[in-house]
Amino acid sequence: MEPKGLVLINTGDGKGKTTAALGTAFRAWGDGQRVLILQFIKGAWKYGELEAVKALGERIRIMPMGDGFVFHNKDRGDAALFEEKKKKAEQAWTVVEEEVSGGKWDLIVLDEINYAVHFGLVDVSQVVRLVKERPDGLNLILTGRCAAPELIELADTVTEMKLVKHAFQKGIRARKGIEF
Ligand code: ATP
Ligand code: MG
Repeated sequence: MEPKGLVLINTGDGKGKTTAALGTAFRAWGDGQRVLILQFIKGAWKYGELEAVKALGERIRIMPMGDGFVFHNKDRGDAALFEEKKKKAEQAWTVVEEEVSGGKWDLIVLDEINYAVHFGLVDVSQVVRLVKERPDGLNLILTGRCAAPELIELADTVTEMKLVKHAFQKGIRARKGIEF
């Protein structure tokens, strides 16, 4: 029998949550596994990641979760916009459920899902259900700051990236190949 898949969480304030998930995705791909990366929150794709995934072919895919999850700090105070985003996020959630339950993947990365929950775009109970009801062999990685305690409780491996320092603090802007 296939062993039960694992649930990993990369959270915390320090850099490395998404890139560690991509490292694991790369490792799984090398092992012959089928990998899906779902990106929440950010609209724009990181160029480096897209190019790398394209070069690897069909067995690894990167998928944006639509503009319901494109949310900026400046939008926080806009209640009408938030409701509109939330509705779109709900529609996009059906895609997440289909991909998770469909049996097409061995590893799914839910990038920035923790942040989507934190913002209130996705209900933590929906994510808990998704995790609990996943097919047996499916591994999941949930990334993003502020992971919900309910999800930390459910996960098998939780890593908190600790901010010691970041180049941004001395005014160095995001750099190609390192940040995008
Ligand atoms: P990465 O994608 O580099 O692994 P991350 O997933 O841990 O970063 P996010 O919270 O998703 O971090 O933030 C995304 C972007 O913000 C990245 O370009 C990252 O370099 C940058 N970043 C991460 N942590 C910090 C920080 N403490 N201060 C400033 N910028 C940061
Ligand atoms: Mg990230």
